[in-house]
Amino acid sequence: MIKIIKSVKEMANFANRIKGRGHTIALVPTMGALHEGHLSLVEAAHNKANIVVVSIYVNPTQFAPNEDFNKYPRTLLKDKTALRHFEHITIFAPSDKELYPDTFDTWVEEGTISKKLCGKFRFGHFKGVTTILSKLFNVVRPDFAFFGEKDYQQQLIVKKLVKDLNYPIDVIICPTIREYDGLAMSSRNKYLSPKERKAAAVLYKTLIRAKKDLEGGETDYRRIIVGLSRLIGFEPLIRIDYITIVNPDTLIEIKEIKKEKVLVALAARVGKTRLIDSMIVQPK
Ligand code: AMP
Repeated sequence: MIKIIKSVKEMANFANRIKGRGHTIALVPTMGALHEGHLSLVEAAHNKANIVVVSIYVNPTQFAPNEDFNKYPRTLLKDKTALRHFEHITIFAPSDKELYPDTFDTWVEEGTISKKLCGKFRFGHFKGVTTILSKLFNVVRPDFAFFGEKDYQQQLIVKKLVKDLNYPIDVIICPTIREYDGLAMSSRNKYLSPKERKAAAVLYKTLIRAKKDLEGGETDYRRIIVGLSRLIGFEPLIRIDYITIVNPDTLIEIKEIKKEKVLVALAARVGKTRLIDSMIVQPK
């Protein structure tokens, strides 16, 4: 039987008891509406620690006022069912009041990487992410924390947060799990109409095309990006926020491709739904 803890105090007491017995805790932070991508993180966490805490919390502070906070899917009981095959799982599903009482006014902000890529389009987003993760880390006190490569920029920022604030946590990154046609699994895919869902497959095709270009020896940034933008441009339901080739550690754009690994990253709106995807490529 999976336990759902809703109070911060109860979660902290539970973590203390577990750690007092010499057991390890792995935290898998999520916003719920669990899919195979989330479950791959839980599986990896399960293989690493004695107890896995899956936090399920749609964090209001990482949504800008014009974003989808209110319509974000909240499916706690379904999520509990999705986790039923795992042992030693606890769900932490606090309320907004528990995490952000009226007096709340202290923030954690990363200063450099969070200004790039999605940071230019989602104002305040990463400040919300680093703040809620700091709170979760303090309450759950995990030995390990699991994140998806799917949110590439986020995982870079999380690693920075853990290093800069000296959290004694081993951050582990898991590969992106994809649908049959390559579309990266995301809770937001639920918003897509059948036509939009079909069109969204072009995002992964675009990354594959970039990989082919780079592995084929193309070194001209502009030529590659123009080709990729054209490919997405054939889908009238899709608008690009950004598509770029960057250094995988700094997220600084690479205008002249050399032999070092690069990250091809994109964000696009499919109808009203904003999706992101990325791929590490080794140019030849
Ligand atoms: P979210 O609920 O969207 O905030 O995601 C929670 C965690 O699951 C984050 O670390 C994500 O990077 C990870 N995640 C989301 N989608 C996928 C996916 N398709 N494959 C692997 N990990 C994912």
